[in-house]
Amino acid sequence: MSSPIAQPISIPPDQFSLEDQLATLHERPEDSYGDVLFVMPNNNKHASPRLTIPLPSRIWAHSALLAVTYSKPLSRLGDIYSSLTYAEGYYVDTLPQRSPCNLPYTIVVVSPENDLVVRKLVAGCYRPVVIRNLWEKMGGKREMLLALDEGVLLACNSVKPHDTGIVDGDILTMGTMDDGDRDESVGSWTTRDNLFQGDVTLKIEGGSVSFSMHKFLLDLRVPYFRTMFRSAFSEASMNEHTLSSEYFTPLSLAIVVQYLYFDDAELLFSWKWTDFARYLNSTKCSSDINAPSQDIFDIFIDALVSAKFLQLESLEWWITNCLIKIAHGFACNGAQCARFLPAIAVMGYQNNIADLYRPCISWLAKHSNISFLWKRNMLSLPEELKADLVDTVKARLTVSNVIPLYLRLYNLRQNTATSVFKDDWEQSLVGPLLEYCAEFVSYHFAEPRIVFSAARGIHHKPPSTTYNAIEDLFSLVLANLNKFNAAPIWRGADCYTKLVASAAIVEQLNQAVISWFAQNWRDLVVMQSSSGHPLSGSRTGFVTFNEWPDESLQKLSMQIKVPLSDLKGLGATARSFELRKEKWLEKCRIMEMNRLMRRQECLKVRDEDSAQFSSIVDTHVDYQ
Ligand SMILES: [Zn+2]
Repeated sequence: MSSPIAQPISIPPDQFSLEDQLATLHERPEDSYGDVLFVMPNNNKHASPRLTIPLPSRIWAHSALLAVTYSKPLSRLGDIYSSLTYAEGYYVDTLPQRSPCNLPYTIVVVSPENDLVVRKLVAGCYRPVVIRNLWEKMGGKREMLLALDEGVLLACNSVKPHDTGIVDGDILTMGTMDDGDRDESVGSWTTRDNLFQGDVTLKIEGGSVSFSMHKFLLDLRVPYFRTMFRSAFSEASMNEHTLSSEYFTPLSLAIVVQYLYFDDAELLFSWKWTDFARYLNSTKCSSDINAPSQDIFDIFIDALVSAKFLQLESLEWWITNCLIKIAHGFACNGAQCARFLPAIAVMGYQNNIADLYRPCISWLAKHSNISFLWKRNMLSLPEELKADLVDTVKARLTVSNVIPLYLRLYNLRQNTATSVFKDDWEQSLVGPLLEYCAEFVSYHFAEPRIVFSAARGIHHKPPSTTYNAIEDLFSLVLANLNKFNAAPIWRGADCYTKLVASAAIVEQLNQAVISWFAQNWRDLVVMQSSSGHPLSGSRTGFVTFNEWPDESLQKLSMQIKVPLSDLKGLGATARSFELRKEKWLEKCRIMEMNRLMRRQECLKVRDEDSAQFSSIVDTHVDYQ
């Protein structure tokens, strides 16, 4: 059974996916750097013949995407004009000189026989696979992997910085050329390579890294750039953007770029950790898949910082989901998960992703007993999370897991005694947990599961660590001894005597318990009719003497030399207890009555006050 939090969080909402974003772009390409306008023939075959359409319908498109899907020159589809020369040479007031993005564009006046071809072509342009192909044609993958292979991202040399003159210039010169010329020489699609260079360069300040990208894609996918491009500031029209090294590393920028074109950045990780994809798709730790190295988290953190800077929510989702997959959906208890989860919790906490750190902490608490968990990376958890972890472990403590956990933590304390992290361990995790374990044990001291685990520990003769641990536990339990846990401790001591009578610590335990009862048995008699301690609960039972089995009570009475009738509150001393109890109850009654009287007086004063107030208001109103 997996708990509800063990489920990976939901996949990114639809509007984040590349496919859906492209669908919206296809609907309104002119809003986002569309640079080709198909003027469709004015013969709508499907429309009624009587219906006359005053203007050709128009279809906007993006030249780079067209170039990927249509390898022939655009001139095959119709006559090509530049928006600038077209407007000059022809009287067409219906076509703007510049696109809505304020850039010159190419006009293709589609010949009637190509009507359907163009419609299909444009529809096919706006698919994720086209964007991916565009990326391949840009040489992006090769460049990125090459750069990563050297350990440092180099500037992508083959992707030259964008020269704004080239594309626009070509469009200008082809205005009135013959079809033949256009096909072979300077026709628009012979400058295809330029289309595959992107039109915006992203750089990191002070670094040599730069990526050439497509402005329409940045505008489509990255809120940060959408705001910038559409602003009135000069940055809007710049072709090069320098990003602060405070928010970007070469690799994090590479991840962003890869993500924008692929909707996925797995490729980059797969390069560094060959089994990364296999690890992501596995559901539990296994020895035949190599886990990624721990520094993967640094890369994720960098990428998350960059994604936040760009307000690229979808990449944040992607990273979060990757991390949940690395944590095997919080549904595995393998050694690799034990190693990764503290790091994932830290990351989630620092970036305020509750979907990450909450399940991590409950996982850590749930598996607090597995041996490979209590490693140094636990110390990297922020204080709040450590406190959270301690609370969650406490809440999960049961009679069956408390002794193993106690022994594990006791061992940890011994092992870290000489470490420089000794205080860290002691203050935030080991100290509070050991203390609580002992307190828990003291209230459940006679539970068979606790007795048998502890007795097994006592069988390890001194000077074994396990024996020492149990000895330490017993002394903590005795230090905790009070009238609420005295009964289970007495019965527990009895069990140990039967199981391992010869052990010195059992003898010490018995002595201490008997001397406590000899001194404090009266408290338990007084408690007879009062309610128990919340921690003792109904599970332990037998908190007060009248709940004890006769046999046990007789034994106690012999050991502490107090008559049985006294223990039952019926003997010679009983009357004085009854008197004390009566007195005490009387005191309570008086206190309660006083409290009620005080309260009534308060209410009376308040009523008088409000009456006085309303009368003042009334007189005030009268004067008006
Ligand atoms: Zn696992």
